[in-house]
Amino acid sequence: MDPLFSPPLHRQRHQFVIDFVKRNKPKKVVDLGCSECRLLKNLKFCREIELLVGVDLNGATIRKKMHGLAPISTDYLQPGYDQLCIELYQGSVTQKDTRLRGFDLVTSIELIEHLHLADVELFSEVVFGYMTPAAVIVSTPNSEFNPLFPGLAGFRHSDHKFEWTRAEFQSWALKVCLEYGYEVEFTGVGQAPPGEQERVGFCSQIGVFHRLGERDGCNRLFGDDAEDLLSYTLLYSINYPSLQDNNILRRVLVSEVVYWAEKLKRGWIEEKTGERNGAFTLCHTEEGGEERVSEGHMDMEEKQTACGGEMKSPVQKWGRSLSEDEGGEYKEVFWTNGQEQQELCTSPRCVSVPLAVLWSCCPKVSALGGSLSNLRHLLMDDPEVKLSEDGSAVLVYNQEQDQEDEEDHSDLEDSGYAEATQCSHSAVDEEDWEAVGS
Ligand code: SAH
Repeated sequence: MDPLFSPPLHRQRHQFVIDFVKRNKPKKVVDLGCSECRLLKNLKFCREIELLVGVDLNGATIRKKMHGLAPISTDYLQPGYDQLCIELYQGSVTQKDTRLRGFDLVTSIELIEHLHLADVELFSEVVFGYMTPAAVIVSTPNSEFNPLFPGLAGFRHSDHKFEWTRAEFQSWALKVCLEYGYEVEFTGVGQAPPGEQERVGFCSQIGVFHRLGERDGCNRLFGDDAEDLLSYTLLYSINYPSLQDNNILRRVLVSEVVYWAEKLKRGWIEEKTGERNGAFTLCHTEEGGEERVSEGHMDMEEKQTACGGEMKSPVQKWGRSLSEDEGGEYKEVFWTNGQEQQELCTSPRCVSVPLAVLWSCCPKVSALGGSLSNLRHLLMDDPEVKLSEDGSAVLVYNQEQDQEDEEDHSDLEDSGYAEATQCSHSAVDEEDWEAVGS
């Protein structure tokens, strides 16, 4: 039947729900008769929804495609602040279940025509009388449209127990409103050919119900004395990763900090060892020599953060090296636009990256951290991050240097080779200054 419509009719029905959700922003939504979860798969992208539930009598149908609702790798790598929990139940809409009370929206798309009329009464009582959601969308075939389907004899589907005219649907809907305190608007999807719309109506007729008083912000409270009814079977439940979960926030923050601390360390060491091309400033070292400091701290393409954010250009050139050879004493080196320098170990074992620098250079770190002291607090006990003793900086070990040292055999260190290595680096630096200076 769908080829009569473009987009296909089932998609038009689902789009109707999605548009409603975008306008009304419900937080808790349940789709009754969810079948293979197609509508749910679209609804999970509506960011306002925090709890998305599907119910169907047929558990096998749910199981067939339910894993398509699982988070994908980007949901884990770049979680947002939104929260989303998805639950799928096997159960009948003719039975009550406490877990389905208090929703903002219930959808019943092409479901009621699969119920016997006696069960439609139970459906009304369960949905409007017991679940009492703020809004309900019910769609069902409009039998007046059927003559337009070429060759259709009987109902549109072999499992349909009835197909209502517009008058029949409206009479049921208005009775429900009267009984349970709702108001309803009638509409539909699947336009009839030009000139026929008034006579036959929409192919799928839709009733949009709102609970009376709900629009004025009057919330329904359920009595605590109500007994818990758990008649549905939970088949699937998943919590999407969210930055509102402190563990996830910490994980994302730590990976961002580790990424940027390492990047800043590399940029700094490359500048120090003169591995980069670019503009250089000649600076005076403590020993009275000169060293070059590149003007540009980072290449443009390196300014992308791990999560796609922009890195702010550091105002200062900075760096702080720590060397085991220095007996644990920190030797600080800050480069501030060539105005203030101290000599440093040219191939340090460890670079100390001040949290304040990460904070000011990486917007994502400051956004996630909330405040500098909170950032310190979040990083403090994390096994992946090593903070300096006073907690003001991240210590990044120079693994390449460690590897080089390992390859060079430890007995060479004893023979003073370590010192010679540093000297040789200095020599390279000196050559570079000459090259720049000449
Ligand atoms: N809403 C879906 C599928 C509609 S087909 C869509 O828009 O594509 C009707 C679905 O209702 C079927 O999956 C069927 O298993 C389910 N169903 C039938 N009787 C039910 C009942 N009593 N309770 C819950 N689901 C029921």
